[in-house]
Amino acid sequence: PLPLENKRVLVTAAGQGIGRASALAFARAGATVVATDINADALKSLASEINIETRLLDVLKDEAVTAVVAETGPFDVLFNCAGFVHSGSVLEMADKDLDFAFDLNVRAMVRTIRAVLPSMLERGGGAIINMASVASSIKGVPNRCAYSVTKAAVIGLTKSVAADYVAQGIRCNAICPGTVESPSLQDRMKAQGDYEAARAAFIARQPMGRLGTPEEIADLAVHLATATYTTGQAYAIDGGWTI
Ligand code: NAD
Repeated sequence: PLPLENKRVLVTAAGQGIGRASALAFARAGATVVATDINADALKSLASEINIETRLLDVLKDEAVTAVVAETGPFDVLFNCAGFVHSGSVLEMADKDLDFAFDLNVRAMVRTIRAVLPSMLERGGGAIINMASVASSIKGVPNRCAYSVTKAAVIGLTKSVAADYVAQGIRCNAICPGTVESPSLQDRMKAQGDYEAARAAFIARQPMGRLGTPEEIADLAVHLATATYTTGQAYAIDGGWTI
């Protein structure tokens, strides 16, 4: 049997990048996946995939999260993948950017966990996977203040949930990627003006000399959904950036 047969998995931000690759990887591992995103067009290309249902979901909206989970749950696995990267140091960071980063990168995870966890507890177990970053409490990265503050909070949230529910069969781990080829990374490279120079700089951060792929991160997400003896950990997957 496949590792995730008869399991239901909820993925946020599944429209593109790591979330999309993960929805496909969970489905290949035998799970029934509810792939959600704010972008309806991005979801369309997933709707025809075997073992995948799609739902429009803005994780900034409490009622929407509750409604989608009520309609499509209960879930065995929750992969919180939604997140946004702001640029800038602490002096350049606008309050509204920090507020938005907290809402999308942290509070959205609190929303989905509150919606999904009660039924996991009733059923005696579940796995929660939160998308953090090495830019967090793991590593100081220049020009990423709002992002790193919030991704460090994701690791704190992960450990807190893990500690509170470890005896009730709930595991909660965080994934901390280095630089991964994705549509939003493409946007950030283009926004810097000299695309080739920006790309070379992003690649140079990893001693492996390349960017990660969404599929490599998705492999770790599937692993953490099935790795029954690990909880509360922040897993770096970063081409050696934090060696
Ligand atoms: P991406 O940034 O290219 O795509 C993000 C997706 O999130 C889009 O499909 C978008 O429509 C969706 N989204 C945005 N706002 C939303 C909302 N309010 N509700 C629901 N969905 C929403 O994808 P990516 O670069 O693979 O990033 C995915 C996650 O991985 C993020 O949390 C990011 O911080 C994290 N991450 C990425 C990298 C990287 O280098 N790409 C590195 C470390 C961590």
